[in-house]
Amino acid sequence: MLEARDTCSGATGRNGGHITPVLYQDYSELKKKHGAEVAGEIVRFRLSHLNELLTVASEEKLLEESQCRETRAYDVYQNQSLYRNAKKLLEVFKRDLPVEGSEMEIVEDRAVLQELQLAPSVVGCVASRGGAVHPYRLVTGILERLLKRYPSRFHLLTHTPCTSIEDAEGGYAVKTPRGEIRARQVVHATNAWVSHLLPGLRGKVIPVRAVMTVQMPEEKWTEAGSRSFVMYSGSSYMVFDYLTQQPSGELMMGGGFFRHHAHLTEIGNADDRGWHGKVAAYLGTTQYFRRSAGVTGVWGGIMAVSADGQPWVGRVPGAISGRAGAGEWVAAGYSGEGMVHAWGCGRAVGAEMGGREERVPRVFRAWEK
Ligand SMILES: Cc1cc2nc3c(=O)[nH]c(=O)nc-3n(C[C@H](O)[C@H](O)[C@H](O)COP(=O)(O)OP(=O)(O)OC[C@H]3O[C@@H](n4cnc5c(N)ncnc54)[C@H](O)[C@@H]3O)c2cc1C
Repeated sequence: MLEARDTCSGATGRNGGHITPVLYQDYSELKKKHGAEVAGEIVRFRLSHLNELLTVASEEKLLEESQCRETRAYDVYQNQSLYRNAKKLLEVFKRDLPVEGSEMEIVEDRAVLQELQLAPSVVGCVASRGGAVHPYRLVTGILERLLKRYPSRFHLLTHTPCTSIEDAEGGYAVKTPRGEIRARQVVHATNAWVSHLLPGLRGKVIPVRAVMTVQMPEEKWTEAGSRSFVMYSGSSYMVFDYLTQQPSGELMMGGGFFRHHAHLTEIGNADDRGWHGKVAAYLGTTQYFRRSAGVTGVWGGIMAVSADGQPWVGRVPGAISGRAGAGEWVAAGYSGEGMVHAWGCGRAVGAEMGGREERVPRVFRAWEK
């Protein structure tokens, strides 16, 4: 496993840790585009991640360290017309997918909103089963175990970027500044940076820089760790902020993407050494809650926005790699929703490389067409 920088230094080590998929908000659109069956598959694929990550964290004895946990997730609406639209979309979702929709409910009783400490400007919420995790600790914990379990078979080479890949006898020559590796198969798991080595994905998987803040509330929230929030403040689902509460009391707050015209400079930006200062300032002053918190940390991270909104998974066609060999694989392009896509996509690639078939929604496949 080659890593250009430190272990887990990409988006996984920098994100907000929400394991809460977008569901009813885009189900109707997915159904229109791909049909009810595929839309249902996508929903179930996303939803499978919470149980899967909880199981893995438990099996690897990483539950405590990774803080992988179930939460009550609230989609919070401040805009009346978007909220009305959300309720309609939720109705369609629950009608079409009664099992998946069974744990979703509308919360608009003022006393309950107050108990959730939401500001008076909030018009209502949709509550569902969600989850949260400290993904850096989960991933580094798993890597640590793999290194111990397979000391001679698994190597993690940090500060070793792959600079190019060439067809070679028996497979590929993978070039790095530290030397060349021969491989029968290559997996591209570089998400936002994937099109560097897969030129056919340029313009299809696009790096987008985002900001994450850590905030410490003046007083620890009594329910810390058990709730998570996505806050829609405008008239579009594209304009949102999100918050998870760590059991320790810290709040992880991200979003603000369309604030201060940030999209104009952050789309196509693959440099995570910095971040958009005004978005960071906005995230430190949002007023969704009745309680205040002070910013204790800020950083940038790079997401991979996919042109069709779906990940790219499976064997890479030659038209995408520009190479003759048929041993390249990809799992990338999670459009800012990696915690509810990456595990399943990676697992599918792993299974298929081993000759086993694994189902992912067919619109995730990286076909030449
Ligand atoms: C600020 C922020 C907040 C987010 N919040 C959430 C959230 O709350 N919930 C959610 O579901 N998703 C969230 N996401 C998205 C999520 O983090 C990503 O979808 C997910 O982490 C992608 O995982 P990955 O392993 O594919 O990519 P990454 O974690 O980005 O890893 C890719 C790695 O590839 C390495 N690399 C790149 N090029 C090369 C090369 N040539 N050679 C070797 N190594 C290379 C990079 O250094 C990096 O470490 C967020 C993203 C950001 C940036």
